[in-house]
Amino acid sequence: TDLFQSPDYFLVDELLSDEHKLIRDSVRNYVKKEISPIIEDYAQRAEFPEHIVKQLGDLGCFGPTVPVKYGGGGLDYISYGLMMQELERGDSGVRSTASVQGSLVMFPIYAYGSEEQRNKFLPKLGSGEWLGCFGLTEPDHGSNPAGMLTNIKDAGDHVILNGSKMWISNAPYAQVAVVWAKDEAGDIRGLIVERGMEGFSTPTTHGKWSLRASATGELVFDNVKVPKENIFPEVKGLKGPLGCLTKARYGIAWGALGAAMDCYDIALNYSKERVQFGKPIGAFQLQQKKLAEMITEITKAQLLNWRLGVLMNEGRATPQQVSMAKRNSCEVATNIARAARQMLGGMGITGEYPIMRHMMNLESVITYEGTHDIHLLVTGMDVTGFNAFK
Ligand code: FAD
Repeated sequence: TDLFQSPDYFLVDELLSDEHKLIRDSVRNYVKKEISPIIEDYAQRAEFPEHIVKQLGDLGCFGPTVPVKYGGGGLDYISYGLMMQELERGDSGVRSTASVQGSLVMFPIYAYGSEEQRNKFLPKLGSGEWLGCFGLTEPDHGSNPAGMLTNIKDAGDHVILNGSKMWISNAPYAQVAVVWAKDEAGDIRGLIVERGMEGFSTPTTHGKWSLRASATGELVFDNVKVPKENIFPEVKGLKGPLGCLTKARYGIAWGALGAAMDCYDIALNYSKERVQFGKPIGAFQLQQKKLAEMITEITKAQLLNWRLGVLMNEGRATPQQVSMAKRNSCEVATNIARAARQMLGGMGITGEYPIMRHMMNLESVITYEGTHDIHLLVTGMDVTGFNAFK
């Protein structure tokens, strides 16, 4: 086969079922055919390849763990992780589109939504007919979302939504936005805002050097009338958004590792072919040190992710374990991307190879869904019992 072979130094593949490997191969094949050939151009032009939304839906990459009955894949968490790993090996922006749709839009509608909301939104989101986005971050409230200003006021059969959200992935193309806002009692509520509602707009964010093939925008709410039937009945408080973020971060832990695997694979092959001073550069100790450290870190992260997947399947994974895996994969991937980029010399800064794109993308991945610092504090608090956030 000429499909990508992931590094597997500790035979982790033996821990996967045949179904897992089949799913991985199908996404791997898709990335090879539909993503890798086009993504560099889209990223260079800072354009979102909108046509992939339907493709990702057809492939089952949206809401893989949501039950089939509601338009999901009904798969386990290892399958979901492997899908995200393969997508992000293509591009972090493509994986972001899938993470947002599956974990931050479909999951909350499934977990917190009414039966009517599930039936109305999930099948169309699962198939990729509709794209969704998730609005939590605000201009003045990023790491501290509890301070959000976006709010809803009761107005009979509907609420009036005011405020704004910033840095929202998929926003410019989304038909549906899951938005978190405070009610008059000060409780955080989740609601589904639909494109076309009066006073709702999604201006595009320009000038990003990272995730250039993913569309990012603001959500602006100017006295938007949202029917009460669009409010999640089942959840109140920060645990709503945080619950979805745990699912999405789990996918990021696998995804970022996919980008790292791609960088390692390219650097390894390049080191065998590129000759300087009469030898392949891979024969020099300094380059071997980089490669040896890369494969060591990839292997450790692979095992961590796999174990986390098992705990997720058993319903035993804690948000703190997910946080650790997200932080670990982001650190491993950013370091590997930088080292791999240097190993390619001048070629490493071009779009001939995906490394620089991965490297720039990963700066967003290490920042969103909780910054690296914040995840470190999560672990710090978990092991000491002391809250160092404030
Ligand atoms: P800040 O919170 O202002 O942090 C600035 C710095 O201060 C960071 O280094 C941080 O680690 C540090 N810091 C903050 N608090 C503490 C503390 N207590 N102790 C120590 N250090 C601290 N959000 C969404 O809601 N939906 C999306 O779809 C989405 N997509 C995104 C896509 C991209 C490309 C990007 C870049 C961001 C996206 N985000 C999204 C927002 C993202 O989650 C936030 O950027 C992130 O949470 C950090 O918030 P901030 O940018 O306001 O940084």
